[in-house]
Amino acid sequence: GAPPLGLSVIPIVNKLQDIFAQLGSQSTIELPQVAVIGSQSSGKSSVLEALVGRDFLPRGNDICTRRPLVLQLLQTKRKAGGDGADEEFGEFLHLPGKRFFDFSEIRREIQAETEREAGGNKGVSDKQIRLKIFSPNVLDITLVDLPGLTKVPVGDQPSDIEARIRTMIMSYIKVPSCLILAVTPANSDLANSDALQMAGMADPDGHRTIGVITKLDIMDRGTDARNLLLGKVIPLRLGYVGVVNRSQEDIMLNRSIKDALIAEENFFRSRPVYNGLADRCGVPQLAKKLNQILVQHIKSVLPGLKSRIASTLTAVAKEYASYGDVTEKNALGAVLLNILSKYAEAFSSMVEGKNYEISTSE
Ligand code: GDP
Ligand code: MG
Repeated sequence: GAPPLGLSVIPIVNKLQDIFAQLGSQSTIELPQVAVIGSQSSGKSSVLEALVGRDFLPRGNDICTRRPLVLQLLQTKRKAGGDGADEEFGEFLHLPGKRFFDFSEIRREIQAETEREAGGNKGVSDKQIRLKIFSPNVLDITLVDLPGLTKVPVGDQPSDIEARIRTMIMSYIKVPSCLILAVTPANSDLANSDALQMAGMADPDGHRTIGVITKLDIMDRGTDARNLLLGKVIPLRLGYVGVVNRSQEDIMLNRSIKDALIAEENFFRSRPVYNGLADRCGVPQLAKKLNQILVQHIKSVLPGLKSRIASTLTAVAKEYASYGDVTEKNALGAVLLNILSKYAEAFSSMVEGKNYEISTSE
């Protein structure tokens, strides 16, 4: 199956969090936000859902996402024995204390809360909906689902709808640490991609933009996405991943994410044109690519964290020396030092990358 987003870096981050908790410090690694951008109905919400591995976002061939949804994934401790699935729940900022264990109820609440602010007639608002998902199977990371770009105002939308949505999207993706998933459907022209155009403005070097090509299953007969995925049409530094999400019919038939992932795998396997492009095809590859970027990010902040641990160690050693020969305190100090040097060791091996091999391989 697909490794949900972040799963493979969980062991590293957990270890670091343990170290910091032992040192009495909360602060640990802050992971970058991930935002999905693209035209309306390009498949943004579908991609996010597939990455999280749960069904909870409004999706459809109309404007569904009408307010930014800031989705904070928060890791909880796993209960012994279970697979963790039954311990997952959501909580909205606007409904504090109310736990949603039923994910289809989360979707209904997103729809209801969208209407409360943006009305029932296709209106769009830049006021966020903030949702936390607590689960033992996720990494602490924030994903942002954004309304899609549209050109012609419909319903209650103002005449400057396009400019407004552009400004809204830009306010998220201009943040230098934000990873951008630029979504373009394969059945449209890449050269007209709103997602790539906006990502190009926010991230001209392309070091934080991943191209996602959706709807490979409904391309024109006789065409395929091989050259798109190879970056021969529009090159992109971090490259492209092609995916097949659930169709509108699948949504109506309540097809599960699990089945959809199997169907996606079969799709790529049965089409010779995608032979040799396995690293650019499928939601699991997209998750893998994101994980690699997260690991790089963690690597880049480790030296700073390491020096903080080192100075804490020095401080503890000094304190230990000042205890003199009071036996009890000596013993306590020795235990503390021992624990800390063990963590420092674990930490060093992480810095050297030994554990990366284990935790990033599939
Ligand atoms: P968003 O507006 O960009 O968030 O797009 P959605 O995720 O809501 O998807 C829009 C519509 O496209 C829905 O009806 C989806 O079922 C459909 N869709 C999304 N991705 C794919 C895909 O890869 N293949 C097919 N056939 N349909 C897709
Ligand atoms: Mg959407």
